[in-house]
Amino acid sequence: MKIDLRSDTVTKPTRNMLEAMFSAEVGDDVFDEDPTIIALEAKASDLFGKEAALFCPSGTMTNQIAIKVHTQPGDEVICDETAHIYNYEGGGIAFNSGCSVRLLHGDRGRYTATDVVNNINPDNIHHPVTNLVVVENTSNRGGGSIWSLAEIARIHDVCRENGLKIHLDGARLFNALVETKGSTNDFGQLFDTVSICLSKGLGAPVGSLLIGSKDFIRQARRVRKVFGGGMRQAGYLAAAGIYALDHHIKRLKDDHSRARQIGEIMGKLPFVEEVLPIETNIVVFRLNDHMPSEAFIKTLAENDILVVAFGKQTVRMVTHLDFDDVQLEAFEGIVKRLFGGKN
Ligand SMILES: *Cc1c(COP(=O)(O)O)cnc(C)c1O
Repeated sequence: MKIDLRSDTVTKPTRNMLEAMFSAEVGDDVFDEDPTIIALEAKASDLFGKEAALFCPSGTMTNQIAIKVHTQPGDEVICDETAHIYNYEGGGIAFNSGCSVRLLHGDRGRYTATDVVNNINPDNIHHPVTNLVVVENTSNRGGGSIWSLAEIARIHDVCRENGLKIHLDGARLFNALVETKGSTNDFGQLFDTVSICLSKGLGAPVGSLLIGSKDFIRQARRVRKVFGGGMRQAGYLAAAGIYALDHHIKRLKDDHSRARQIGEIMGKLPFVEEVLPIETNIVVFRLNDHMPSEAFIKTLAENDILVVAFGKQTVRMVTHLDFDDVQLEAFEGIVKRLFGGKN
């Protein structure tokens, strides 16, 4: 048995999800003729109280399309220094949109409205035009940290007062929502555009959604085509997305409790210096100098546990739909056998 904790993207479709995919009605979506994609997009926009949505192959694409549509070349995008859009999208902000980036130094990925205010450029021809603010909830590099809705509301107000657009990278928004009993509608109201991933904790094999106004999504559809993301009979994939939204949100709680249990197990290891607070399905911890993360990860891999480095002395583990209690028990047994641990 391989225990794969590298990411919540590693899940395979369940039998029921495959059945939903198998029986999907499809058509050519570039001609707007795929009924299942149309249904998924309508479901997503309704969920967030927005007018429209766009099904895309990846969360990188939904974020990059959003940035492209919101900005002009030479504009500046504000985000946290840990943001996915800045660190993990191949320099796409520069490549696709020709924008510069203002990085904020938040707390585990979360900055404040005051940080935003302090980083809006004055209206002066020397400076790039500050145009767009991006929030990532939950924050991946922050160890799955959840934003306070009140702070987001303050950031929203700052954006409105200063004529800035605001986009949510909600790749793992549902993890935050089940934990805080939050509502998608609140997020729809606080953001001009929202990106959610179906292929992370929700367990679909492929797909993300970009959600916004009708006019915005009309432009986004054009950019998706330019980026090569116009898909044909992709309703088979959208069917998995509909199934995921219907059946895989509540269960994210189980991922969170298993993540907390992993955190406890790791916290007992003598060479683990610090485990970041575990708020959702991501466990990030720092090793001391006696245990380089490379060696630690290699030892685990030799024993069928896959995890990723998050820096020289930092390791990330992510729980997901295919990691159950049987695997958790096996994980604990293997870790204890390999590394011992204080009690
Ligand atoms: C995974 C992820 C994305 C999108 O990644 P893709 O692999 O392109 O779907 C975007 N933002 C965050 C925070 C993510 O974790």
